[in-house]
Amino acid sequence: MPTIELLPEKEFRSHAPGYWKDQLVPETDWNSAKWQLKNRITTLSQLEEHLVLADEERAGVLLSGNKLAMAITPHYFNLIDPLDPDCPIRRQVIPRIEETLDDPGEMADPCGEDSHMPVPGLVHRYPDRVLFLVTDRCAAYCRYCTRSRVVSGVGEQTLHLEHEAAFRYLEKHTEIRDVLLSGGDPLLLSDGKLEGILSRLRSIKHIEFLRIGSRIPIFLPQRITPELCGMLKKYHPLFLSIHANHPRELTTEVRTALERLADHGIPLGNQSVLLRNVNDDPAIMKSLVHKLLMCRVRPYYLYQCDLIKGSSHLRASVAKGIEIIESLRGHTTGYAVPQFVIDAPGGGGKVPLNPDYMLMKDEQRVLIRNYEGKVFEYPEASSPAQLKVGQA
Ligand SMILES: *Cc1c(COP(=O)(O)O)cnc(C)c1O
Repeated sequence: MPTIELLPEKEFRSHAPGYWKDQLVPETDWNSAKWQLKNRITTLSQLEEHLVLADEERAGVLLSGNKLAMAITPHYFNLIDPLDPDCPIRRQVIPRIEETLDDPGEMADPCGEDSHMPVPGLVHRYPDRVLFLVTDRCAAYCRYCTRSRVVSGVGEQTLHLEHEAAFRYLEKHTEIRDVLLSGGDPLLLSDGKLEGILSRLRSIKHIEFLRIGSRIPIFLPQRITPELCGMLKKYHPLFLSIHANHPRELTTEVRTALERLADHGIPLGNQSVLLRNVNDDPAIMKSLVHKLLMCRVRPYYLYQCDLIKGSSHLRASVAKGIEIIESLRGHTTGYAVPQFVIDAPGGGGKVPLNPDYMLMKDEQRVLIRNYEGKVFEYPEASSPAQLKVGQA
């Protein structure tokens, strides 16, 4: 097997054309989304052609067929450091036997989505916006997937993709002004199919704002073609939230894909999930958010990992998330600092968590501290009756 050069986490590196099964793949193949999807790693034997597995991984892969399927694009797989058993890329996509462990509090539907679905595939939790699940497939599967109960086609439930019922609900509910397409990964749909959904949504007058949540720019940057971007551009305002967790994921191919999206006027945000031994480290997160800005992506949310069944080995502590935010705020560009949130278990929605910068508050004043720990007092405005007229 050819040696894969270790990636410096702060630099953008190329991964194309890549080595695959000891062969150099022709560039036209490697750069084709179709080739990448066709050559995904989905079985134990394919995986073992490339990597020496730990027993925990081998057992995990064998069990993934009845929980959440394994699939890894060659592009993403090539980021794995074969010599590092704790490789942060590897932990995100290669199943482990720990996925069968039951930690009390873990759930099949941690965000209580199923109980907020007025029609199948449409989650209406907040007053003015909805989450619209348009497909149950992704280019690759994150082992901590919050929707593993319906995603990948092997879980305990199937997602009913009744788009027509969802469109009718959206047409009737004039309070909805924001539709977030997710799944599965909406960018896995063909340009035509996705355009059908976007144009139908745009025909609904009260829908102002569209956004897509997708990990395709990270897993399969080859999918971000000029044709796709040209189509998306017709449906503005359209935002895209990507999902990058580790600086190594931002390769030159990914950067090119993100720049192309941005050049088509699509504002880009990033939603990271805080994961143990992946990105639960201030230095790694700082490198990630800086690289995101270089790709014109604004870090949007940092999620505490949902209480999805079998995720205890990947969940970092809430305190670690706060520590990371504290290490960023004030120390670096404000645009680089995401909002840390917990999606409240059982369906409470996203709750923001912040370091305590307010030390005390009463009617007269607040006592605050800055990023350096220096303490300041801010007096509230006095009522007019307490004030004398100044001398002009
Ligand atoms: C995250 C989410 C949204 C979008 O929330 P924002 O804070 O506006 O990004 C909408 N609906 C559901 C069900 C969600 O989980």
